[in-house]
Amino acid sequence: MSEPVPPDESPAPPPDAPPTPLPEPEPFVLGVDLDGVCGDYTAAFRAVVAAELGVEPATLGAQESWDFTEWGVAPGQFDRFHRAAVLEHRIFRSMAPLPGAADVLWRLSDAGIWVRVITHRLCVNWGHAIAVADTVDWLDRAGIPYRDICFLGRKPEVEADAYVDDGPHNVEALRAKDNDVIVFDQPYNRHLEGPRAEGWAEVEELVSGLAAARGTPLQGQFPGFDDPGRRLDHRLGR
Ligand SMILES: [Mg+2]
Repeated sequence: MSEPVPPDESPAPPPDAPPTPLPEPEPFVLGVDLDGVCGDYTAAFRAVVAAELGVEPATLGAQESWDFTEWGVAPGQFDRFHRAAVLEHRIFRSMAPLPGAADVLWRLSDAGIWVRVITHRLCVNWGHAIAVADTVDWLDRAGIPYRDICFLGRKPEVEADAYVDDGPHNVEALRAKDNDVIVFDQPYNRHLEGPRAEGWAEVEELVSGLAAARGTPLQGQFPGFDDPGRRLDHRLGR
């Protein structure tokens, strides 16, 4: 015989009570790398290396490898050049944004994606104030939205639902922990398996697909924002 079911003793809500809100769905968190993904590190660093070596930037050719050896950057020299790039040439303040980054990230953010910037830019010792200040200033001027920002090298520890990165070591470390990683296409990461995005339009497609597969409902963008990358400028009257 089945147990008798006790009567529901919770009082009925009064007829004019507001409806109980549904719990907010967990946002889909996208971890976004900066150098080589949102900003053109290669172009900025090319100018620095050319100045340090006393040559014209155009003579350095295309970047093919992660450590810039084809530009004559000797092993052990990268750290010195990178330090000069950050602290003297201020490339974190001046590098060109990559096309589409701001617009796509605004659209994804409007659709409900939580944008988490993740960068290893504090690898330069004794220059953290410049690196952090230049980075957040650059993000504002580039019109890139983000809800939080992590300055750290151990990227698997930030618990995003998916990542977009160009660094082979980062992609491999994240995938080793079963993370979804979109490779942002660059000459030095072509040996890695996909998913791969050749530009931000493809990032948008891939992220939308991952969020849908995760069951995260995405919202359409509000009408009237046809220039989302400059929304912060409009808001601040710039
Ligand atoms: Mg990078």
